[in-house]
Amino acid sequence: MLNLDFHPSGRHFLQIPGPSPVPDRILRAMSLPTIDHRGPEFGALGREILDKVKKVFKTRNPVIIYPASGTGAWEAALINTLSPGDRVLMFETGHFATLWHQMARRLGLEPEFIGLPGYEGWRHGVQAEMIEARLKEDGDHRIKAVCVVHNETSTGVTSDIAAVRRAIDAAGHPALLLVDTISGLASADYRHDEWGVDVTISGSQKGLMLPPGISFNAVSDKALAASREAMLPKSFWAWDEIIETNRNGYWPYTPSTNLLYGLNESLDMLLDEGLDHVLARHRRWAAGVRAAVEAWGLEIQCLDPAVYSPVLTGVVMPEGVDADAVRKIIYERFDLSLGAGLGKAKGRMFRIGHLGDCNDLTLIATLGGCEAGMKLAGIELESSGVTAALDYFAHHTLEDVK
Ligand SMILES: *Cc1c(COP(=O)(O)O)cnc(C)c1O
Repeated sequence: MLNLDFHPSGRHFLQIPGPSPVPDRILRAMSLPTIDHRGPEFGALGREILDKVKKVFKTRNPVIIYPASGTGAWEAALINTLSPGDRVLMFETGHFATLWHQMARRLGLEPEFIGLPGYEGWRHGVQAEMIEARLKEDGDHRIKAVCVVHNETSTGVTSDIAAVRRAIDAAGHPALLLVDTISGLASADYRHDEWGVDVTISGSQKGLMLPPGISFNAVSDKALAASREAMLPKSFWAWDEIIETNRNGYWPYTPSTNLLYGLNESLDMLLDEGLDHVLARHRRWAAGVRAAVEAWGLEIQCLDPAVYSPVLTGVVMPEGVDADAVRKIIYERFDLSLGAGLGKAKGRMFRIGHLGDCNDLTLIATLGGCEAGMKLAGIELESSGVTAALDYFAHHTLEDVK
């Protein structure tokens, strides 16, 4: 039946926190003919990509690229470094940390899940002192790895990874540090080497502005050493063979050729602009979106301003309002996709993605869709968030968010 309220002309507003909108420049790069993945041109492309991608992770060590979603790279990080029955300490920041914890159990590890209690616990980042205290109790070093999510995409809360590193060091504990920055890379400040991370996990469809389908493990020397002893079964995901063939720019199996064209373009875009500029752009957008939420008189999911995510903002609905019903109105009336509340946050909030290929006015339109949709849902807003965000953007430059 013809729905006269819905006019899906123009571009869909894909404002979920990943997949994020793919720039035309990347789509064009991906449309080139697929080439022989064993041929000389491919080897040159592979070497160039593997070299440039290190700059985005801020590492001098290898970065492994998998033809898989982020979940595959999560699994790769665990099975390359750990053995059956190994204890791992994981911190519950939200839904993605919870999924990673479930995966660890399914793989035959013994994950220990610590965190702040209940739904309120999902409004804060990792508490490094809790990790330090737990590691200090672990005198015989049964814990083999600490696993944390850098940018918790289900809540819009980041975590201080340098503080987690300091906690592990303060406890004098040899555990590996495994960090998921699937939604943080190239949008939120991230430094694999400087922060002493052993495995960094990332994916293509968030800050890298690519379609879903490739994912990453950046590794440390300590992680590589651990991978030589680790006993969980691995073949497709094994680092050693991939790193070996990567030396010449190839992979042991058919890589995602056209996604790698896209990655090459994305890396050029990010590195030409400069990562500092890219990160400042995200911080400024996030501040503008938060100004809107505050003007509406609504709560932001993240309760600690020190760790507000520059990638997305969780907007908490007033008591008794079903956030999914509001999202449905916004989707149907304004062709705008927002992130749903997940797990413990289901129905309580929605998530606005402000990452990658956005600009001030696409975000103003996004906030316009949110504002109109919330009013249609009967929510009483204190004032116009759109006006507040416009004011913020008009009066703040990247200098202001240094
Ligand atoms: C998106 C995301 C994942 C899952 O990645 P997939 O590509 O969907 O497998 C895991 N962790 C975080 C923090 C994410 O944002």
